[in-house]
Amino acid sequence: MPMRPMRLARYVWAAPCSALGLALALPALLLGGTARPVGGVLEISLAAALRRLRLRRLPFRAITFGHVILGTSRTNLRRLRAHERIHVRQYEQWGIFFFLAYPLSSLLQLLQGRSPYWHNWFERQARAKASPAEFGRHKET
Ligand SMILES: [Zn+2]
Repeated sequence: MPMRPMRLARYVWAAPCSALGLALALPALLLGGTARPVGGVLEISLAAALRRLRLRRLPFRAITFGHVILGTSRTNLRRLRAHERIHVRQYEQWGIFFFLAYPLSSLLQLLQGRSPYWHNWFERQARAKASPAEFGRHKET
């Protein structure tokens, strides 16, 4: 079935961000990372690449770029799916401007003496809309 025009428009609008996600995922995929489409989003597990590079951890468990989600493992991708899907929706609304709006929100929080991550408007929205079970337990980006 062909994609509906509005849905297609959201993919096109977020495409520059998705392209960056793919570019960042490429080295990991070449090192054995795996990609899997889940509900219209490409989920990339970095687990094999991290093992190969002997990296135990990254500053995030999952991070979203448009319709591409990079996760440190399949388990983390599954656990954080609801939260990261809210970020996907945010990219669909903001498009390339997300790359300006997100850090700007962090900066505004920092200038007010608050956490640039936890108080970031986009993170607060993602936590509020995602599963309450996830709330506060995981470090997402
Ligand atoms: Zn987040």
